Formats: sequence, C-alpha cells, structure tokens
Amino acid sequence: MTGLWPRVSSRAARLAPLLAAVLVGLPAATPGAAAHAGAHASGKGSLDTSALAIGDGKRSTSPQRGYLMACNPVIGGVAPTGPWIHGTTWSFPEKPTVSGSVSYPEASVTITVSGSVRRIVSNDLPVNHTTGIFPTQPSDDAYMYDPGNQGSVTAQSIDLSIPAKPKKTTPSCAGGQVGVMTSGVRLLNAFDANGFDAAAHEMQDDCSGHPNNAGYHYHSLPLCIPSGKKGRHSKLIGWAFDGFPIYGPLGEDGEYMRNDDLDACHGHTHKVKIDGKTKRLFHYHATQEFPYTVGCFRGTPTALQPPPP
Ligand SMILES: [Zn+2]
Ligand SMILES: [Zn+2]
Repeated sequence: MTGLWPRVSSRAARLAPLLAAVLVGLPAATPGAAAHAGAHASGKGSLDTSALAIGDGKRSTSPQRGYLMACNPVIGGVAPTGPWIHGTTWSFPEKPTVSGSVSYPEASVTITVSGSVRRIVSNDLPVNHTTGIFPTQPSDDAYMYDPGNQGSVTAQSIDLSIPAKPKKTTPSCAGGQVGVMTSGVRLLNAFDANGFDAAAHEMQDDCSGHPNNAGYHYHSLPLCIPSGKKGRHSKLIGWAFDGFPIYGPLGEDGEYMRNDDLDACHGHTHKVKIDGKTKRLFHYHATQEFPYTVGCFRGTPTALQPPPP
C-alpha cells in the first residue's frame, strides 16, 4: 500500500542527471558530503548549504547586508516547516521538492531594447525548464508540509518596461515582485506572502519555483536557468525592476559568492557582458544566501507591483 507513504523526493534523493547539469555544480546535492561551495578566493569561507541561515525576521528599513529591505507588509501567520529546518538554519539538500516535469510549449518571452527602454514581454511560463506538478499532489511528499497551497501554473500577462541604461540612486525597498528572469518567469523577493523566508519554508519544485493565485514565480536563485559553469562569472539570468541585470551565483573569480562579497542590495559593480558589450555596471547576483536576489533596489524601480495574494 504505497499510497500511505509519501514518496521521498528530497533534492538529495532525486537529483536527476539533467538537473545536476543545470545546477552548474551547485554545492551540496548530498547531505553531509561535499556540502560546501569551493572555498572563496578571498578566504571568507565556504557556504554549507545544509545549514543556511533562515531569513525569517531579517527585514530592514534601510540597506543592510544579509537583510531584505522589503516593501511588502509583515503579515504573520505560520510557515511550512519540517525536518529540513534546524533551529535558525535550513538544509537545502534535505528540503522536499514538488515532483514532476511539466513542460510549457506555449511559453514565450521576448526582451527588446528600444532607445532608453528595455521591454520584457512574457506569459510567465518558463521557456527553458519544466516545473513540478501543481497543485501539489497528495502523493507528493511535499504535500503534507503545505497542503493548503493549491496554486496552479497558469499563463499571466507580463509586459514590463525598465530602463535600458539604469543609474544608481538612493537604495529603496524591494517587493513583492522585483523582476523578471530570462525564463520569462516573475521573480519575487525573498519573503513569502506571510513574511517568512520563502526558499527556506515554501514547497517549491526542483527549479525553486512554484505558483500562487498570480502564477508561477521564484523567490531565490532559480536553479534551472542556465547560468554558466564554475570558474567563470555567471551569465545574466534576469532583470530587476530598476533596470539592473541579475546574474547567477558565481563572481568574477568564478567562485560562489557570499553576502560578504556583495553590497547591501545584493550586488556589486565591475565589468560585465551586457547587450553584446563589455561594460562596467552595477548588477545583482542571485545566490544561495538570504536575501538570495535583490535585497533593495540600487536604481529606481519603474514597475513596482503590489505583493501577490
Ligand atoms: Zn511564492
Ligand atoms: Zn558580478
């Protein structure tokens, strides 16, 4: 009677070779073994993904490294929890994922630049990866931790105009939605609708995505968007609402970045390849440390939207 026992589908148990390939060598697919990013060249230490600091309560009203300067209100309530939560840390390899491999042939995204405007049009369905099966099935081990989240992956209309040549200004709060990724999917800030660390608590698929009433989205480093290989600076994987680009987790030395390597908005400035040119430009990095992506806007956001329901 297998139905009585949810199928184990933690990342550690079921990382498929295909996914492993797109994980660009992300550390710690196996708990207790190799659970470390390569030691950072600056000697700041490696990141143990089996003991990531949970971002609950790490909300600030001014730019602060390791915190999220969030616009969305504190709502409260309870967050899904389980054996992957260890006090003030959570274990990436131990956390269950929503199973499945659903593809979206109708997915579309176009990103064009015209004058001073970069326009991103998509239908919020991922163009370059599959998703888990949503609503989460009762047979999925993720179901028992968050049975109330019954959102479906549905097409949404995204038509975003952001500055093509963004400028740094006084940092401002970020969220709920903070950008759009090259997959065409929305990026929300690191907090879930109740103000908890979404990556630590919410049930997500192997790509770190999941839907709510307003469609599919990420809250953290999207694991299925190809972002390059270790040893080189990550590729561009998305755009924030202030027009600055978002890159994957690898810094200039090709090593995984830590919060200490980035400013309070989770970015930094150096030469990057963008729009076919090499330019010295501020950019964000999506990493595995809270607040994961945009910690505050370094430029002026042009498309602030209310937090999702
Ligand atoms: Zn969410
Ligand atoms: Zn960089």
